[in-house]
Amino acid sequence: MIDVVIIGAGVTGCAIARELSRYRLDVLVLERASDICEGTSKANSGIVHAGYDAKPGTLKAKLNVKGNLLMEELSKKLDFPFKRNGSMVLSFEDEGKEKLQLLYEQGIQNGVKDLKILPGDEARKIEPSISEEVVWALFAPTGGIVCPFNLTIALAENAFENGVEFKLGTNVKRIGKISGGYRIETDKGDFETRAVVNAAGVYAAVFHNMVSGDKLNIIPRKGEYCLFDKTVGNLTSHTLFQLPTKYGKGVLVTPTVHGNLLVGPTAVDIDDFEGVNTTAEGMADLLKRGALSVGTLPTRQIITSFAGLRAHEEGGDFVIGEAKDAPGFFDAAGIESPGLSCAPAIGEYLAEEIIKYIPSEKKTDFKETRKGIPCMALAAPEEKQRLIGENPLYANVVCRCELVTEGEIVDAIKRPLGATTLDGVKRRTRAGMGRCQAGFCSPKTVEILARELWKDIGEISKNDPGSEFLTGYLKE
Ligand SMILES: Cc1cc2nc3c(=O)[nH]c(=O)nc-3n(C[C@H](O)[C@H](O)[C@H](O)COP(=O)(O)OP(=O)(O)OC[C@H]3O[C@@H](n4cnc5c(N)ncnc54)[C@H](O)[C@@H]3O)c2cc1C
Repeated sequence: MIDVVIIGAGVTGCAIARELSRYRLDVLVLERASDICEGTSKANSGIVHAGYDAKPGTLKAKLNVKGNLLMEELSKKLDFPFKRNGSMVLSFEDEGKEKLQLLYEQGIQNGVKDLKILPGDEARKIEPSISEEVVWALFAPTGGIVCPFNLTIALAENAFENGVEFKLGTNVKRIGKISGGYRIETDKGDFETRAVVNAAGVYAAVFHNMVSGDKLNIIPRKGEYCLFDKTVGNLTSHTLFQLPTKYGKGVLVTPTVHGNLLVGPTAVDIDDFEGVNTTAEGMADLLKRGALSVGTLPTRQIITSFAGLRAHEEGGDFVIGEAKDAPGFFDAAGIESPGLSCAPAIGEYLAEEIIKYIPSEKKTDFKETRKGIPCMALAAPEEKQRLIGENPLYANVVCRCELVTEGEIVDAIKRPLGATTLDGVKRRTRAGMGRCQAGFCSPKTVEILARELWKDIGEISKNDPGSEFLTGYLKE
């Protein structure tokens, strides 16, 4: 019997896996997609929220403030990009001050440090991009931005290095109670385990409801985005939220940690658990509302759009912990926003609960740190020379927009839990994330993947099977 099986390799499952890998436990992660970070964790705002949004006393509030505190140190240990750029909530109406005051007080109760309410003019001194329409702003210097892919991949790689097993491309179908644990049926065979962690994102209610009479209901709440080119990435240096106005719920305008500009998301409840398409109405709506914050948006610089699904549980809070009527079944369900910010804290919180259920000793040889892929575009000249001296592939630029080299792509493929698809390379190195959106580098990246994985070029896919890059391709 395996000690713990985690369903889902998003940021939540990977954070829990890393925390459990500190202990002498057999831990297995089952993920239906062909890579880690293929669910909601790949399509969000990438904001590390300060923590004033959630109602005091909720899990969301507690874990957000703690996650925000943990993120900076974690980013150094696991080598992923994080920046404390500060955020503002903007009000376009004088009456908004009262609502900002409520957020301020909520933040103080939650333990958020250094919050301030500023009149529009003072806010404009700190962030000159905000529009003349802004009358009041709540300023939260502890807000930050993070790369959601690198965070998730770093957690997974570190968990793997510390002994956690990952089975990707493994779809969990059913969970049933057996003596001393659970049997998990998948399309790749069955697994028996003492404890289950349910971190299946929008599907978490499906698994919870298989073992518990206390039913959950998760509604996918879609959020659409526009991503802008790096040439306008410095339009704002802070993350700009809006108070809801007569025009509807606010959207945010933010720099990304890689220097792009991001505008979104919309918020629409849908029935389709796979509905991550973008829509013309969604785009028009978010651009109109985003422009309120900064006066005008440079829409000719939009390079792509995408959408993600929030796992909104009807109760409104995260559902984290052992299900009351299913001993050994631990939920990490309803992890909507601020789930990314909370992930390091969720990992610690749930691992502690699991260790109470399966008492276990800490390893003495736990590897606390992990080194990411070198980023040639940002490396200092001496570091570039050193890397090229060690491996000339670091001199061969493949992605011309993001200046990603063949050395970085090979590294992404060869490292623990390495990339096997075009999207896997993209998320690990940024090859294909730039202005041309992989128009130029895809063929070369496909060739490198085929060469390094000893596969035929026709087998290389964008992501899951069925998305092969070449169609109608005939093997010689
Ligand atoms: C529009 C939007 C904006 C957001 N912005 C922010 C933000 O700025 N800051 C913030 O803190 N949070 C934000 N969030 C929330 C954050 O993205 C999520 O809370 C977080 O990514 C959830 O991670 P997860 O691991 O729980 O879920 P997921 O990333 O969805 O992972 C669940 C995994 O389970 C797998 N799975 C599902 N079913 C099965 C099965 N049958 N068998 C095996 N595996 C299975 C899936 O493939 C998936 O990989 C946002 C969310 C959205 C949608």
